[in-house]
Amino acid sequence: STRRLQGKTVLITGASSGIGRSTAFEFARTAPNAGLKLVLTARRFDTLQQIAADISKETNSNVKVHAVQLDVSDPAAIRGFVAGLPAEFRDIHILVNNAGLVRGVAKAPEIAEEDMEVMFQTNVTGLINMTQAILPIFLARGSEGGEGDIINIGSIAGREPYVGGSIYCATKAAVRSFTDSLRKELIATRIRVIGIDPGQVETEFSVVRFYGDKSKADAVYSGCEPLTPDDIAEVIVFAATRRQNVVIADTLIFPSHQG
Ligand code: NDP
Repeated sequence: STRRLQGKTVLITGASSGIGRSTAFEFARTAPNAGLKLVLTARRFDTLQQIAADISKETNSNVKVHAVQLDVSDPAAIRGFVAGLPAEFRDIHILVNNAGLVRGVAKAPEIAEEDMEVMFQTNVTGLINMTQAILPIFLARGSEGGEGDIINIGSIAGREPYVGGSIYCATKAAVRSFTDSLRKELIATRIRVIGIDPGQVETEFSVVRFYGDKSKADAVYSGCEPLTPDDIAEVIVFAATRRQNVVIADTLIFPSHQG
């Protein structure tokens, strides 16, 4: 399966932390000497640069890493990012649409307008804009109408709504619906559209949810055993390394206590 990553370029959004960061490491560990290239994006550029350095050090790989600061909620920034990709990193084969967040826990009437906008612009509009920006590269590849992998990170929240999370749940239901529609639209091509919906994973996710309050975030995970970001990263890389004709279309993955 490592062979399938030979010479490939992988673009990951939200690679500065959690699942995105783990996914970058997992690709590098899986194919350390396959001429793999990683394009890592997020808003925190210093963190990305550190991760780029750590990947070559810790995985002892020859993977080439290009770190770019990018806010996916800014459509102009996405256009600029794609236009500015160095030639060496432009031939993207695998897009991991991972950047996302939840802000606040509040019943629908009390949700701050700004939180609502940030969640929709990042989780939904950002993911769609990124997909639209990269799709032409995929559509131009090969002789069968296009080739490449689009891996969208949704959430269990898009399937099982919870009180206090109506907007976040709605954004993730939108991700799921977009993913399923896109797969149908691209059915005649070799472009695989893969949806992965995690349950509870311990990352910075809940720190962001509680506006940086670490003690509130820690409380979420007390008394249960959440997944690790590596658990999700392994599934992402697994899906990307299947035979071309195998589409891992739709995966729900959660810790056993959450079932
Ligand atoms: P983290 O908070 O650890 O990581 C989120 C990543 O998204 C960070 O790298 C962050 O980077 C990036 N990000 C946030 N906003 C933007 C933006 N506007 N532009 C670019 N990058 C952005 O959380 P997770 O790893 O847990 O989250 C990854 C994905 O997994 C999200 O889509 C989340 O909804 C989903 N998920 C998480 C679950 C969990 O329990 N943890 C459960 C189900 C789904 P930076 O701040 O540097 O921009």
